[in-house]
Formats: sequence, C-alpha cells, structure tokens
Amino acid sequence: MTYALEVAGLDKTFGGATVLDQIAFAVAAGSTTAIVGPSGCGKTTLLRLIAGFEKPDAGTIALAGRVVAGGGGWTPAHRRSVGYVAQDGALFPHATVGANVGFGLPRRARTAPRIAELLEMVSLDPSYAARRPDQLSGGQQQRVALARALAREPELMLLDEPFSALDAGLRANTRRIVADVLAKAAITTILVTHDQPEALSFADRVAVMSTGRLAQIGTPREIYSTPIDVPTAEFIGDAVVLSAHVEGSRARCALGDVAVASNGVHGNARVMVRPEQIEVTTDGAGVTGTVVDVEYLGSEMLLGIRLDNADGVVSERVTVRRFGATALTPGDRVGIRVLGRGVAYQA
Ligand code: ATP
Repeated sequence: MTYALEVAGLDKTFGGATVLDQIAFAVAAGSTTAIVGPSGCGKTTLLRLIAGFEKPDAGTIALAGRVVAGGGGWTPAHRRSVGYVAQDGALFPHATVGANVGFGLPRRARTAPRIAELLEMVSLDPSYAARRPDQLSGGQQQRVALARALAREPELMLLDEPFSALDAGLRANTRRIVADVLAKAAITTILVTHDQPEALSFADRVAVMSTGRLAQIGTPREIYSTPIDVPTAEFIGDAVVLSAHVEGSRARCALGDVAVASNGVHGNARVMVRPEQIEVTTDGAGVTGTVVDVEYLGSEMLLGIRLDNADGVVSERVTVRRFGATALTPGDRVGIRVLGRGVAYQA
C-alpha cells in the first residue's frame, strides 16, 4: 500500500537538544490525523519537517511513495504537494483577501473566477476578495488562509493549531467548515491541536507525542479507551488511576473488583477508568464513600468522593462525572459502581 505520508526513523535536534527522536508513522491517503501532546514536545517541528521548512538530522519522509527527505535526497517546500496553515493564518496584511488567495495559484491561474471559487469552497462570500485581512473576523481570516493553501491543490494539508485563537463557538463552526472542505476535496490532512476533544472529534487517527517521541497512534476510540500508558491516559482525558492487584481480567482496587482487558498485566498494578464509567448510586450497594466536594460546570458536575477502606487498600479520592444537576452535597454517603472495563498497567 502506498501511503500519503510515511515517516521513518526521524530525528531532529536543535543546538544539541533532541526535539524529535525516532518518529515513525504512516498516514493513509484521504485520512485525517490529529497530533496532540504537551507544549514543546515537537509537534510543530514535525509538521515543519514534513512541509520541508526544516531538514531532519536522520530518517526519511516520503509523500505518496516519493522520498522528499532523507537517503541523501531533499525536495524543497515549494516542490512538495503540501499545504500549510499556521496558527495565526500568516496572511499578508497589506494585500487584499483576493491577492492572498491568488498567491497560492500559479500566475496564469490567478483569475477572479478561480479566486471566487476558492472563497466559496471555504464558505466565504466572493465579495470579500476586495477586503484587507484586518476587515475580517479571526475565523474568516483562517478560512482565507485555508483557501490560499487549497489553491495549490495539495495532496497533503498540514494544519498547525489553526483554530486556537478563536473563541469556542467560532472555533467549532470554523472547524466544521474546514473539515467539510477537506473531506469533500479528499485531501489527506494532519492537524496539530492542543484541544483533546477537537483531536478526538476531527480525526480518524490520533497520534500522541511525548517529549519528542510518538507515544501512541490509533483511532480516537483506541486512544481514549486503551491508552498505552498512564501519562497518555491522563493527557487525552480525565482519568481515575488507582493502585490495584490484577489477576487475569479482574483488578481489585479501591473501586472494588473492576473488569480489565487482559493484556498480560498481573500482580501489583495500576488501573485506569474514565470518570464517566463510575456510576454513583444512593442505594448503598457495592463500594461506598463520602462526597467531599461538588464542582458545578454547567452541563455537568464533578463529584469528589472519598472511598471507604476496602480490602485494606488505603482510602482513595476519586472524581466522578455526572451530567445534569445533582442534589448531592458534601458529606452525603453514596455507593459506587464501575461500568465497562478499565485498563491495567504493570506497576
Ligand atoms: P507547542 O505545543 O507549545 O506549540 P510543540 O510541541 O509544537 O509546542 P515545537 O514548537 O516543535 O513544540 O518545539 C519543540 C522544541 O524545540 C521546543 O523546546 C523548542 O524550544 C525547540 N525548537 C523549536 N524550533 C527551534 C529552533 N528553530 N531552534 C531552536 N530550538 C527550537
């Protein structure tokens, strides 16, 4: 199978500091991959290497089966079929919107109808072509940046936190428009984002980076429900992590006897469940505990619960998510039940 992008053994250092360490992954044509990871872990550097703005120290990058970096070869950015949209859009401030979009087109294709067509692709009225970027909203500017990148008809689109400067409503709306445009044009897309829910909802595959390494790559469901390790679990969402004793597919912990996928872990271990897997009951059945704090978040509430000592395991505090209002207040006694399976990690 020929992948849209194949990266192997990629290393990059800046001034002696390792920024990328043996990065390897492949991206199927037409798919959407989100790259997430803590600040400074190397996400932008990886995108810049793929785009051709930087050279790797070692390793190879192939686009549609053609090596563009490594193995002694090097294809500069303008000769790669790659579009790049930066966080701030990087529009030319003194040029009109039309001229900005036209910049992405070959000179003879820089016509008003083609520019209008590209603006329409990103749901902008063609009359905006005459405006300057500062006469548009942040979301509209990002869409102009996307139109400019689309003008090159790239096979691969790299989006580096393109929505991060937008407020929540505009962000969701712009994201939907951008996702639609790229899906319709069947352009393979890689998105770097700081926003985990955005990564899980936007992409077919999520790649989690951690200090220069690729910790895990998989479907959003795999990454969320079976993270490779505790840091990945905690990075991608809220996690309840408890010490446990595992035998087969059962983990004994402060939450009681929790089902886990049998993945070779046994004996002293840690078990991870997501807060929404923990059901709070008031019938007193199962493991019991006391509500210690209640955090109101509008559509949901976070309940802090101190568990009663079970099986001699020290008393632990867990955070549980409850949708809608709850009448529970600190001091209330509750029961707890775990739904579905947790994930066990060897201690
Ligand atoms: P963020 O999420 O904060 O944008 P990131 O994961 O995109 O971070 P990078 O921008 O790739 O991280 O940076 C990774 C590391 O490489 C950082 O420590 C950064 O300071 C360093 N770095 C990046 N570019 C250069 C450069 N041109 N020269 C020296 N160091 C650099």
